Amino acid sequence: MKRNKSISLVVLLIFIVTNILNCYSVQAYTTNQNMAKIWVENDIVTNEGDKQYLEIKGWSINESGVKEVKVYIDDKFVGNLTSGQKRMDVKKAYPSYYDSENAGFGGKIDITRNVAPGKRKVKVESIGNDGTRTTNTKSIDITKSAPKAWIEKITETKEGNKQYLELKGWSINASGVKEIKVYVDDKYIGTLQNGQKRMDVKKAYPSYYDSENAGFGGKIDITRNVAPGKRKVKVESIGNDGTRTTNIKSIDITKSAPKAWIEKITETKEGNKQYLELKGWSINASGVKEIKVYVDDKYIGTLQNGQKRMDVKKAYPSYYDSENAGFGGKIDITRNVAPGKRKVKVESIGNDGTRTTNTKSIDITKPAPKIWVEKITEIKKGNKQKLEIKGWSINASGVREVKVYISDKYIGKLTSGQRRDDIKHTYPSYYNSEYAGFSGIIDIPNNIGAGNKILKIISEGNDGSQIATNKTITVGSRLIVIDPGHLGHDSGACAYGVRESDLNAGVAVKLEKQLQGMGYRTYMTRSPLRPNEYAALSTANELKQRYTAANNLKADLFISLHHDVAGSNSSGMWTFYSSWKPGIKNNPSDLRSLTTGYDGNRDIHPTREAQLSKEFGQKVLNNLTSKCGYPAVRPYVVDRNLSVTVHTNMPSVLIELGMMSNRSELRRCQSSSGQQQKAKVIADTVKSMF
Ligand SMILES: [Zn+2]
Repeated sequence: MKRNKSISLVVLLIFIVTNILNCYSVQAYTTNQNMAKIWVENDIVTNEGDKQYLEIKGWSINESGVKEVKVYIDDKFVGNLTSGQKRMDVKKAYPSYYDSENAGFGGKIDITRNVAPGKRKVKVESIGNDGTRTTNTKSIDITKSAPKAWIEKITETKEGNKQYLELKGWSINASGVKEIKVYVDDKYIGTLQNGQKRMDVKKAYPSYYDSENAGFGGKIDITRNVAPGKRKVKVESIGNDGTRTTNIKSIDITKSAPKAWIEKITETKEGNKQYLELKGWSINASGVKEIKVYVDDKYIGTLQNGQKRMDVKKAYPSYYDSENAGFGGKIDITRNVAPGKRKVKVESIGNDGTRTTNTKSIDITKPAPKIWVEKITEIKKGNKQKLEIKGWSINASGVREVKVYISDKYIGKLTSGQRRDDIKHTYPSYYNSEYAGFSGIIDIPNNIGAGNKILKIISEGNDGSQIATNKTITVGSRLIVIDPGHLGHDSGACAYGVRESDLNAGVAVKLEKQLQGMGYRTYMTRSPLRPNEYAALSTANELKQRYTAANNLKADLFISLHHDVAGSNSSGMWTFYSSWKPGIKNNPSDLRSLTTGYDGNRDIHPTREAQLSKEFGQKVLNNLTSKCGYPAVRPYVVDRNLSVTVHTNMPSVLIELGMMSNRSELRRCQSSSGQQQKAKVIADTVKSMF
């Protein structure tokens, strides 16, 4: 414990001694080294004649002696001062400095040309023989007389086919004039010669530097870059010190009017392309920069200009560059110019922006466009109706688009531009005929209305020309097959002297009228007005004829109408469908025996047509019983293998519309208003689903 304490004391002592030694060495350095010193005692601007000087006086000392004294204005070196001047006062104050009796410096520096007026920073730097430096900086406000410029004469002159602006004037600047720039409407056009002798100006402004050379003058070529009209000419005089002044005058520039002439205009064909070929000449006092071509005021291209035309040169020698007045060339008009009488305008634009035009007419001819519709297929999907269309069209300008209209209403666009090498082969001279094909599937909107409609397909070319073709289509009207049960020699059930076939026919005729009024197409399997038709057929053949007709017509729905007999107190309606439709699908592994009390098959994975049959059968049963006030014999539509429900390849139902064996119900079935009500309920149910 005690031993540790004495070690700490020794460490502390060493630390203190080291610090004292350090302090002593720093002090020795500062006392032994005499810093260089400088002092600017006086700095003024003086004028002598047309020159300006900066006059400086001061002193500087350096351990190694002062080698030189430099002057900077705003950090730019402007000159040296004379050093080594006698200064016994400085010697007395700093006897220890080497050569301090010669510490004085002074002199004047010419700042006429290189220092601009304003507040400036003057830095004086003293450099010792050993290279050490010291500076002293002062501020000074430099004033100079304002620069002046004056345009005495401004004229427009012509020499040969060139045009010049001639200027004369004078300008003075306290720092001397460095250059004279000329602007027309603020656009730089050239520089004038300056430094011309002007003893009159020297006499009037003797204090301006170099004013005996204040004159400027010269001519600037304005042939190409100055347009005719009243122009503002500005002369800008720039001094050696960067200061500027301007003088502005107006002048009216006149030039000969530009001319353009189309000598030849023809239409040419090469392969499947069409060109407009033009030839002519144009002159402009500033030279022709470019020749643009417009058809019916739409720009279509530029012609080559600058072609040799010695004849034009001879006729218009005063126009600049008139020996190169010719223009010509051909412009592709395959895609953008439609056939017919067209106005071709050539616009010549000069180097100075002035323009002139010449217009000629030409009759453009092109082979007529063609269109051919190869296929129109009607596609029904749920409640939607679509048209699949396929065909081709050609146009000398290429086909831009193929549009579809129904009853003059725009429906949509087909995909055009499909590869058709066969069409290319037949019509090689038509532009782009290898892409003549079009096709597409178009939705027919519901608001088009049902019935026969005009389908118009219009092919439009890139040049706007069109060709159309019309087809008649049947829109929106679903085909409903109405099957009045029995008829002819087969009167069906019979009660109280009333034949079922007559009751079925009564409802069928009313249903047909109702559906047609709603826009549906209808088909009667048998004509109620010709009851003995097909009288020779067996019942089986007759039934086959009913469903075969519906299948061939690709009908949307099949409705078979019947009336029933049972006990005299029986009452009610029922409906039948078949889940098994072997004409569409007949997969034995999906078939089971009926569970509804009848012999036959049922399909455990029924087709969409069978599902719609069941849905419609149930709906029409519910609507008929509730709206007409009949009970249901069975509350659900019954799955049963009836000829007209099994063998029809579309949704189909058979409806039993009432019990003839019940006397009062028979009377209701006979009444025209009762039949009408049933027809309306069935038609409304059709409309809700088909
Ligand atoms: Zn029947």
